[in-house]
Amino acid sequence: MPTELLYLRDAYLVTFDAAVLEADEEGRRVALDRTAFYPTGGGQPHDSGELAGLPVVEVRKGEGDLVWHTLGGDGVLPADGDHVHGSVDWARRHALMRTHTALHVLCGVIWNEWRVPVTGGNMEPLSARMDFEFDPLPEGFGARVEELVNAELAADRPIAVSFLPRSAAVEDADLIRTKVNMIPESVAEIRVVDIVGLDKQADGGTHVQSTGEVGRIRVAKTESKGKGNKRIRLEVVDP
Ligand SMILES: [Zn+2]
Repeated sequence: MPTELLYLRDAYLVTFDAAVLEADEEGRRVALDRTAFYPTGGGQPHDSGELAGLPVVEVRKGEGDLVWHTLGGDGVLPADGDHVHGSVDWARRHALMRTHTALHVLCGVIWNEWRVPVTGGNMEPLSARMDFEFDPLPEGFGARVEELVNAELAADRPIAVSFLPRSAAVEDADLIRTKVNMIPESVAEIRVVDIVGLDKQADGGTHVQSTGEVGRIRVAKTESKGKGNKRIRLEVVDP
C-alpha cells in the first residue's frame, strides 16, 4: 500500500494523524499510511516538523511509493501499527509554497513573452534558480522579467489544483507544452496546477492559493550555463 499524499489535495494541511506501516530502527525512519509531509522531489525540498514528538529531519519517497520520515532526537521510534500525530513546520512549508508558485509564474511569463521553455530548476525556501533555453539572454532581461513576474503576482491570479485522467491530460495543449507525455504511462491520473490564465502544468508540488500570496520576486542574478542554457536566480520577498 503506497502512502496517501495528503498535501496533493490540501497544501494548507499542517497537522494529521496516521498509522505506521513500517519502522526501520537502524535508519531511524518510519513509513506512514498517510502524510502531510512533502518528500524531496520535483525540485522542491522536503518539509520538516514533528512526528510522534520527534523532529522530522528528512522525508523521502521510497520503493512502492512509501514515504519515509527520518526522525531526529533520541526518543523511542514508533513501531509498526502505532498511531502517530504529525505537524508540519508551517513557516518552512509556506515559504516553499510561495517559492514554487513564483517559479511557475516565471515559466508562464517567459513562455508568453519569449516562447522559451524551461530546462530545469531547484528551490530553497524563498530562493530558487531556474534554467531556460535562451541563446543568448535578451538585452535588459533581468529587469524586464522581474517587472513582468511582479505584475502577475500583483494581479492576484487564483491557482486551481485538479486531477485529470491521463488520456485527457495528454490532449491538453498547455500540458503538452510542459511535457505531460514524459510522465510514465503507469500514472492513470495527472495532477494539474493551473495559475488561471497564465501557466498550467502537470505538477506534484505544493502551491499557494493565489499569486498575491507569493509577495514579490527579485532577480538576484542571471548567468550562462552554456549554449542554449541560461540560469536565473531569484529571491521571494514580502510585498
Ligand atoms: Zn512545479
